[in-house]
Amino acid sequence: MLQHAAGLAALGAASGPAEAAAQSRSAAGVNTNSSPSDLKITDMRACTVAANYDYPIIRIDTNQGVYGLGEVRDAGVKGIALILKAHLLGKNPLQIDARLSQIRPFAGQGRMGGGYSAVDMALHDIAGKVYGVPAWRLIGNKLRDKIRIYCDTTGHKDPKIYGKRMADRKKMGFTFFKMDLYTSLVEDRPGAVNVNGVATEKGLGYMCEYIAAVRDAIGWDQPLGADHFGRLTVNDAIRYARAFEPYQLAWAEDFVDYRDWRGLKQISDATTTPTLTGEDAFGLEEGFQNLIDNQAVDLIQPDPETSGALRETKRIADYADMHGIPTVLHFAGSPVGCMASVHLACTLRNFVVMENHAVDMPWWQDLVTGPAKPIIQNGYIPVPDKPGLGVELNAEVIKEHLRYPGYFEPTPMYDDFIVSGFRRVGPWPHFDEDGKYVNAVTY
Ligand SMILES: [Mg+2]
Repeated sequence: MLQHAAGLAALGAASGPAEAAAQSRSAAGVNTNSSPSDLKITDMRACTVAANYDYPIIRIDTNQGVYGLGEVRDAGVKGIALILKAHLLGKNPLQIDARLSQIRPFAGQGRMGGGYSAVDMALHDIAGKVYGVPAWRLIGNKLRDKIRIYCDTTGHKDPKIYGKRMADRKKMGFTFFKMDLYTSLVEDRPGAVNVNGVATEKGLGYMCEYIAAVRDAIGWDQPLGADHFGRLTVNDAIRYARAFEPYQLAWAEDFVDYRDWRGLKQISDATTTPTLTGEDAFGLEEGFQNLIDNQAVDLIQPDPETSGALRETKRIADYADMHGIPTVLHFAGSPVGCMASVHLACTLRNFVVMENHAVDMPWWQDLVTGPAKPIIQNGYIPVPDKPGLGVELNAEVIKEHLRYPGYFEPTPMYDDFIVSGFRRVGPWPHFDEDGKYVNAVTY
């Protein structure tokens, strides 16, 4: 390797200064296809895969051939990323914090966090490729080599059949489980549901039969979460949570809206059933800080495609860790966002488990090349060591599953500013992008 570097240095000495600079970058282990200080964003394009949910996938191109992939939140739309294009064109993608702080005002909660999140993924993909390191290395250290996965499982009104479905998940190698416990499972039974569609004490007894059946099928010692109870008041949620206590759930999810941290705190304080929320929250300050500061839930569950992807979700999880709150990752998108989330997950001190919503879709993992296949191996996803996200698109398979015609078509309609023109500036005195005061008037 030293010999190789010396050879390159000699070559550099023999040619012009640009080549010499490129050679010294090569000797430093930097991708010679890129000149980091001259790297500029030239384009953002997208396509939408129609799957169990829509997967809007974006690509950020640069002036040096290096590009980055990202994904908007499942069931979101590509436009929420593309409206950010004008804020990124001509800028250096390696200044990740600067790029992200510029678009942060345009990130919202729920699917509206998906544009910011997709851009974050693409910037880490580009930077990883340029510096020849996996994306996780740009945000922290790899604390685990494989990421534990839980998956959704379709429920059934017959507890025995539901139990068998969960047992089949265990046979696939999963070591962490979650069941959907809709109140509607018991609504046909006399006296089970009141006029508000909420389970009565009798109905809660029936709902617990499903938990018992699943516990008998997978084992009472296995971690088991539960989700989707329906619209509950704080008092009803407390009744539900207390009824579930004998089954020692790993968590009960989204009893009330995640923004109601006071209600969640009341529920958490009234039960030993662990509470969890966060799949629709963006940002630490915007979405998670109240939940964490007030110990309103026992666990948080950001979805990296809404919460701000690698960099912001690391912040959120680290802040939660400081307060003794573990982090679960929600996820229901394509392998692009999945692998971005794997890079994130391997760096989190307080990581518990990450979701996958596509274990029953045979072509899900064929959408990409790069990661080891099968992507989920015995209930875990190995952490890739390839530069960037380590994912390339399989164009042929994606084109078979497009929501709309068009595969990364030009997007000139997004070249101009749409959500804000604040940075357009002009010949008058102003602070520029780097905070320098320019065009000052002198007398
Ligand atoms: Mg959920």
